[in-house]
Amino acid sequence: MLDIIRPGDPRYGSVRHVYTATGSPARVIRPRTTAEVAEALSLGREADGPLAIRSGGHGISSVSTNDGGTVIDLGELASIDRIEPGGDLVRIGPGARWGEVAQALYPWGLSISSGDSGDVGVGGLATTAGVGLMGRAHGLTIDRLAAAEIVTAEGQIRHVDAETEPDLFWAVRGAGANVGIVTALDFHASPVPVVAHATFQYRLDRLATFLRAWGETVEAAPREIGAFLYVGGGGHALATVIFAGDDATAAQRAIEPFGRLGPILGQRAVLEPYAAVVTRTGAPHRGQQGAHLHNGFAVHLDDTIGDRLEALLSSGYGTMLQIRSVGGAVNDVPAEVTAFAHRHQNFNIAGVASAPSRAFDAAWEDVRQSLDGLYLSFETAFSPQRLADAFPPQTLRRLREIKRKVDPDNVFNQNFPVA
Ligand SMILES: Cc1cc2nc3c(=O)[nH]c(=O)nc-3n(C[C@H](O)[C@H](O)[C@H](O)COP(=O)(O)OP(=O)(O)OC[C@H]3O[C@@H](n4cnc5c(N)ncnc54)[C@H](O)[C@@H]3O)c2cc1C
Repeated sequence: MLDIIRPGDPRYGSVRHVYTATGSPARVIRPRTTAEVAEALSLGREADGPLAIRSGGHGISSVSTNDGGTVIDLGELASIDRIEPGGDLVRIGPGARWGEVAQALYPWGLSISSGDSGDVGVGGLATTAGVGLMGRAHGLTIDRLAAAEIVTAEGQIRHVDAETEPDLFWAVRGAGANVGIVTALDFHASPVPVVAHATFQYRLDRLATFLRAWGETVEAAPREIGAFLYVGGGGHALATVIFAGDDATAAQRAIEPFGRLGPILGQRAVLEPYAAVVTRTGAPHRGQQGAHLHNGFAVHLDDTIGDRLEALLSSGYGTMLQIRSVGGAVNDVPAEVTAFAHRHQNFNIAGVASAPSRAFDAAWEDVRQSLDGLYLSFETAFSPQRLADAFPPQTLRRLREIKRKVDPDNVFNQNFPVA
């Protein structure tokens, strides 16, 4: 029998909200098997109100709760198994968090590059891209995906991989939320359990000048380097720089150039398990992080981008900038191979405001003029133009053809719907 949590159930308070929003759904269904996911979907389709799919509840582009509708919460599908002893293939449930994945893989001598937060769920991240700290070394998270199990709008359970269901397998890797509910994911993990983990705190005298030097340093770095920069409004920036490997000498050589940037207020570097970099806090969800984000990609952090980002930050509308490296192995994959098509840029740039604001939106439009493409997982605005930024014309055309076949009624309409 399906586990359905309704208002009045003592557990309701712990499942109604997500990280970025509060909600009051009429029912939260917690399936324990793939067959139960299909059953839950049938119930959700028949019920009134919107239908949300939730894995880890850390969604930004799509809110995985609602008011008065149905939530299918995949938190019980969270197993992490090695498919063959000694092999690199692992099967992971969408409800697992990336911090738990890193912990489970470490004793096997493995890791998978995910995002910078161990609380983020596997399902949401691995169906859009997965811009991670080891991305320049190992590619996006979706680039490690070998196969998936998916429940389609009609309630069919399908195994998808490059041979058996090439269209669905292509769509899952970038636009998964459009084509079904992913219930299991098989990844080729990387044999890199230990990394060099450096953090820097910089004082910024002039943001545009710093960003150009930061960009050049990242682009010149070997592929083992992944570098995420977080810039606040107070003239300071924090950086996480990862060397994907445990060769201390090579790591030191690769990380050193980051120590020559900007006046440094603090720095630290250690060799440690990747699991210690991406840790899970496990904090309960109560809509505590009402984030408002816009983003785009850039090939280089040139002066124009730097000046526009500086103007955004000094206007006070954007409270934080996040600049994540891509490039390297991410760009080895041709743009048409996955539904995520941004394969020539070196950076993703996101502007974060603590609350929705027209002034922030307008200020971001200036920045957007110098950007190229969009990652839907870092975007809270949805419009036909943003859809076109996320999916270039050929990608969108193919996605729409697939959508017409597998979800003609647009059941999955919450997260950058292409229909
Ligand atoms: C603090 C924080 C840090 C982040 N850092 C990074 C980062 O470094 N790199 C990066 O790439 N991303 C990052 N993200 C973005 C993150 O990848 C997305 O928000 C992702 O959607 C969260 O996944 P989830 O399963 O926790 O989300 P949920 O809220 O559970 O789901 C979000 C949406 O994804 C879809 N979805 C979820 N599960 C499934 C499924 N099983 N099948 C089909 N569709 C599904 C649904 O449309 C759902 O509404 C970050 C987000 C946060 C909040």
